[in-house]
This record gives sequence, C-alpha cells and structure tokens, in this order.
Amino acid sequence: MTTATVPHVIIIGSGITGLLIAQGLKKRGISYAIYDKVDPATRPRDWSMTIFWSFRHYPVLLPEELNSRIHEAQSKPYYRPTAVEELVVRNSETGEILKKVNSPYAMRVNRVGMRKLLLNGINVQYDRELIDIEYTTDGVIAHFKDGTSDKGTIIIGAEGGQSLIRRKLLGELAMPVAYPEVEMVNINVNYTHEQGKYIAENTAPHIDYGVHPKGIFFIIILRNVGDKDDYSTWTFHYVITYPKKLTGTPLKGKSNAERVSILRSLADDFAEPRQSALRWLPDDLEVPDDSVKMWSPVPWDNHDGRVTLAGDAAHAIAFYRGQGLNNATTDAAHLVSAIEKATAGEVTMADAITAYDKEVIARGQEEVALSQELAQSILDWEKFLESPIIKFGGNIPKEMSN
Ligand SMILES: Cc1cc2nc3c(=O)[nH]c(=O)nc-3n(C[C@H](O)[C@H](O)[C@H](O)COP(=O)(O)OP(=O)(O)OC[C@H]3O[C@@H](n4cnc5c(N)ncnc54)[C@H](O)[C@@H]3O)c2cc1C
Repeated sequence: MTTATVPHVIIIGSGITGLLIAQGLKKRGISYAIYDKVDPATRPRDWSMTIFWSFRHYPVLLPEELNSRIHEAQSKPYYRPTAVEELVVRNSETGEILKKVNSPYAMRVNRVGMRKLLLNGINVQYDRELIDIEYTTDGVIAHFKDGTSDKGTIIIGAEGGQSLIRRKLLGELAMPVAYPEVEMVNINVNYTHEQGKYIAENTAPHIDYGVHPKGIFFIIILRNVGDKDDYSTWTFHYVITYPKKLTGTPLKGKSNAERVSILRSLADDFAEPRQSALRWLPDDLEVPDDSVKMWSPVPWDNHDGRVTLAGDAAHAIAFYRGQGLNNATTDAAHLVSAIEKATAGEVTMADAITAYDKEVIARGQEEVALSQELAQSILDWEKFLESPIIKFGGNIPKEMSN
C-alpha cells in the first residue's frame, strides 16, 4: 500500500477524449481543470462516428443522467439501436453488397452532439493554448500562450492528432505518417427533399461503406436528421479517399467550386446512388482541406507519472475502420481508473500511469497497423477482397473478447 495522493489533473483539449476524462474524474471527486485553445463552437467541424465495442465504458465514466441521454447525440436522435445494426460493405462500381457486418447496438453519433452532451457540468477554460510544460519535484506546470499557467500533479495530452505534448515527449518520433498519394474529402451535404429521399432510400439506414476497384473509398453516413419526413433537413456525411492520379488535379489550392467540380468528375465511375450523390453536390458546398494521417504510438517518458497522452494524441487512427473514438473512450476509462487507484493509495501515480501507457501503446499500435493495412488494401482491389473486413467482417479488437 502506498500513500494516498490528492491529485490535481490538468487536461489539455476538450474534444470527446478530454471531456470523457473530465466527466470520469468529476464522477470520482478528483480535482481537475480542462483547457482548450479554442471553443469548438466557434468552428464546429462536424462528422459522424460509430460507437460500438467501447459502449461499456460510458456508464463507468458518466453520471447516470448523462449516460441515459447518449441517444441525443445520434444522427437520428429518435432511433434506438437494436441487436441487428449492419454495416453494409459494397462494390461501389456495381452497387453489389460484398458483406454485411453486424455490430449489435452500434450507435451513430455526431461529434458536435457528443461534445455538447459531454460538456454538461464541465467548465472548459477556452482560449488557453498550451505552449510548454515544466516538470517540478512534485508535479508539472502547464504554460499557456496568454501568459497564464496551472500547476498540477499530472498533465494529460488529449489535444488531438497534432498533439503538442506528444511532440514535446517524442520530437521527430511524434510525426504522423502522411499518405501524399491519396486525396481525402470529409464533407457534409444537404440536398433537396427529393434528392435526399433518393439517396436515403438507396443506401443502408445509417452507414453505407463503398469501395471501388479503382481504389476509391466512399462511405455514405447520416450525420443529422432534422425532420424525419423532410429529407431537405437530412445531412449526409461523406468520407471519400482516392488516388490523386485518378483526377490528375489535386484539391489543394483550389477554390470550393473547383473542388466540387473535381468531385463531380468522379461520378461516372459509380453505381447509383453514389453517381447522383456526386452529380447533385451543391455548387456552394464547402470542401475543407483534409488529408489521411496516422500515428502509431511509441513509448514515451511519462516523467514518473506526471504526463501522459490519450485519444487521438496517443494514437492517430484513420477513419477506415471507425476505431478512433472507440479507442479514445477506452483510453479515458483506463486512465481515470489508473488515477483513481493512485488517489486511493493502491499504487503510486508513477506505476499507475506506466501501466496505463503500456496498454494504450500496445492497443494503439495494433489498431493503427490494422487501419494502415486496410488503407493499403483499399488501393488494391484483389487485396481488399481478401481483407479481414470482407473475410471475417472486420477484426475483432482484443477489447471485445475481454
Ligand atoms: C471523418 C472521420 C470519421 C471518423 N469516424 C469514426 C468512427 O466511426 N468511429 C470512431 O470510433 N472514431 C471515428 N473517428 C475518430 C474520432 O473522431 C476521434 O478519435 C475522436 O473524436 C477523439 O478525438 P480527440 O478528443 O482525441 O481529439 P480532437 O477532437 O481533435 O480534440 C482535441 C482538442 O484539443 C484542442 N487543442 C489542440 N491543441 C491544443 C493546445 N496546444 N492547447 C489547448 N488545446 C489544444 C483542440 O482545439 C481540440 O478541441 C473519425 C474521425 C474522422 C476525421
């Protein structure tokens, strides 16, 4: 038995990871402060995500009242997931269904809705950009761009895929791997009632996963449904990746209108409804800059349990297997449990964080390797047909079998 400590936890980043950690600490009465360089409400980039195998961590992290309201963050807030929630995988050139992968009770949520829900009861201090960390004999000091600082027992880097804390801990080794030969598009699209109805009625209810033999990934997901009977209120979320050589014109440096026209030029390659979905892209659609990046974790020095990473900061996982949030949720649950044990005096903070780091690094490495393998196989049709998602319906992460 070690001596119980009374920690003060500094969380950097108020994405879903940071907020889940804050909720878990608050639930246990552990002192924390959470900072973000910006209020995401001022730049609400939204996309939808599937929560599946990480479900079981939500009741552990959230108060009962919030846990019972997760459906509010769903693409279809009125929907209740069932034992049969299929991910439909297609050949998007022909429309043929290649595989149906069942993820019982999987829930489609959107990022803005999840953040809004998780903000309940959490006071994030915005406009506080972390610029440096200083280690002291008994803790750590976070220094912010506005000249302020906060002293804590431990600092958690939950500041996303470009994490500063990761870069401070690992230097060059913290750099994500980019895929410069691949174009990435992550867009939200609204149509007229008739167009939206056509797309909704010709795709799987929540998520329609399309891969084209030319190496194009085109997933159609529902992000938001306003009025379920008025399809002009339905927002569709498309994630498209394709080899840049297919269009010969990179999106970077182009105007929105030019980007829309480049995307429409891919339409002929697809079966319906993807063909129309691209042809009908609104002229004024915003097509933000995006790129595929992944980072596989390598061990970092946690300075005797005074610093660690969680979520996309700890493992930058591309969207192909829909695993980033599921792993981020698992990180939050494991990290809160580690801090709780150290607070109770069951282990030292150094041992608790070292055990957490070891597990998160191994799990992150495994998942990033699987995502990289799938990303590569999407560029090679024969390989894709032999990939785990087609052969076995996706790899079951170790977590699911525990
Ligand atoms: C298109 C797409 C689809 C996806 N689909 C799925 C899916 O189906 N299933 C799934 O499990 N996952 C999915 N993901 C992954 C998922 O979105 C992320 O894993 C999840 O949102 C966790 O993000 P985060 O909180 O770790 O980081 P972020 O959301 O990036 O939050 C980091 C926060 O840190 C702040 N910050 C950054 N630097 C600083 C600093 N120096 N000081 C202070 N604050 C800072 C930022 O402002 C930001 O608010 C998808 C991702 C994408 C892009």
